[in-house]
Amino acid sequence: MERISHWVNNKVVRGTSGRTGKVFNPATGEQQAEVDLASVEEMDAVIAIAKAAFPAWRATNMSRRAEIMFRMRELLDANRKELASILTLEHGKVPSDALGEIARGVENVEFACGIPALLKGGYTEQASSGVDVYSIRQPLGVVAGITPFNFPAMVPMWMFANALMCGNTFVLKPSEKDPSASMFIADLLRQAGLPEGVFNVVHGDKVAVDRLLDHPDIAAVSFVGSTPIARYVYETGTKNGKRVQALGGAKNHMLVLPDADLNMAADAAVSAAYGSSGERCMAVSVVLASEAIADDLVGKIKERIPNIKVGPGSDPAAEMGPLISKEHRDKVAGYVANASGEGATVVVDGTDKAKDAGFFLNPSLIDNVKPGMKCYDDEIFGPVLTVMRVKGYEDGLATINANQFGNGTAIFTRDGGVARQFQFDVNVGMVGINVPIPVPVSYYSFGGWKASLFGDQHMYGPEGINFYTRGKVVTSRWPDPRTSSVNLGFPQNR
Ligand code: NAD
Repeated sequence: MERISHWVNNKVVRGTSGRTGKVFNPATGEQQAEVDLASVEEMDAVIAIAKAAFPAWRATNMSRRAEIMFRMRELLDANRKELASILTLEHGKVPSDALGEIARGVENVEFACGIPALLKGGYTEQASSGVDVYSIRQPLGVVAGITPFNFPAMVPMWMFANALMCGNTFVLKPSEKDPSASMFIADLLRQAGLPEGVFNVVHGDKVAVDRLLDHPDIAAVSFVGSTPIARYVYETGTKNGKRVQALGGAKNHMLVLPDADLNMAADAAVSAAYGSSGERCMAVSVVLASEAIADDLVGKIKERIPNIKVGPGSDPAAEMGPLISKEHRDKVAGYVANASGEGATVVVDGTDKAKDAGFFLNPSLIDNVKPGMKCYDDEIFGPVLTVMRVKGYEDGLATINANQFGNGTAIFTRDGGVARQFQFDVNVGMVGINVPIPVPVSYYSFGGWKASLFGDQHMYGPEGINFYTRGKVVTSRWPDPRTSSVNLGFPQNR
């Protein structure tokens, strides 16, 4: 059986803990590899290597750093298809979806190539007589990334591109469910010319995460995953004096007003709910349908569902692949099975597909959901779209703002005034106006509000640069005997 090991000092390093995890092919349900799970001692050894690599890397000039990232961009472009096939094999997403993930990840690599411009500081000449003041941003040291199963290529790219270009060294702890993409990316970084020890991958579970959170040489932690773990990572990491950004789960509402183009809204809801089998933190999981158009809209969504081709990524016609694991598939199916008992209406039940080999479900549609029902309150993270009927704008807005999560949301309307009011009123971090999955481009930053993000810096883009650096302000005077004197008062500029 294939063994997936760690990546340290630009080479594969076999684990020594004696503990391994199982990696499945979700399209067949078969185990296809085992992955090493690091011990505390192995974590300590890798962190020491990343620490030792830091002084030389932070001293490497900006042009050289950018040159490596430019090369990385070219390598990713040349190897897109191979990376996509790794994603399909371990995560299950179909090739078109995998290529989309890679494209959105590469945007972050491209953004980081601009590091010489991004790290420019400020300069004030003559702040006081003969005194100039300027600001610079410097790297933190060894920083860690802990990533989820659902974007095994893109989410690491959200983190390491900016972190490395800012001059930090990096330890990545990817999801143990689909660990191969990070190994492939690590090898591309080596080919791009990244020095040894600057980017390392350690596979592991809670043992590895906990060591990253309490090791004194880890300066900052970027986390993406479920809300309970995000909260834990944030609380533990900050208690230990680390800078932490921890992005959690989501329940994204799409509010459809009576004046919306209902065909466009139905297409958007179906694409955003069932793409990647609903295993996206920006998936639309609740449609808030205004009463006046609710029957019509539910009908349009329902009539589109049978056209979705569910199948393995090896089938070129497949649009929606399997879920990540048997346990997760069964949990998702459980929400559909229990929905009628909670008082909701199951319009389309896709759980029959669970009988097939592999971790498949067909799309499900549940109408008349309400707060208090599990299928509304929980993040399902599967191909299950729920519909809640609302009176109109105010009712829809109040529902969204009352939800514990605040990752993404969308409004579908032709009324620009109402859309603008929505953007003003809604307590959610990423907002779409007739755009169902409003993932910000790489030169903005990604992050939700409320239980979808713990910390005060969003991920990637300008906030990513801030997160991976700390500011320093220099006040400088060059010797001028004409202005020198003793003065014990507090320095003043007037
Ligand atoms: P997860 O929380 O189970 O795992 C995320 C990471 O945490 C993994 O590396 C895992 O090994 C580690 N981990 C798991 N349990 C742990 C524990 N008890 N202690 C310490 N570390 C632990 O998440 P997942 O199932 O891999 O990913 C799906 C979740 O991620 C969903 O909730 C989804 O909404 C969320 N997500 C959020 C965003 C976002 O940007 N907000 C993006 C992608 C995914």
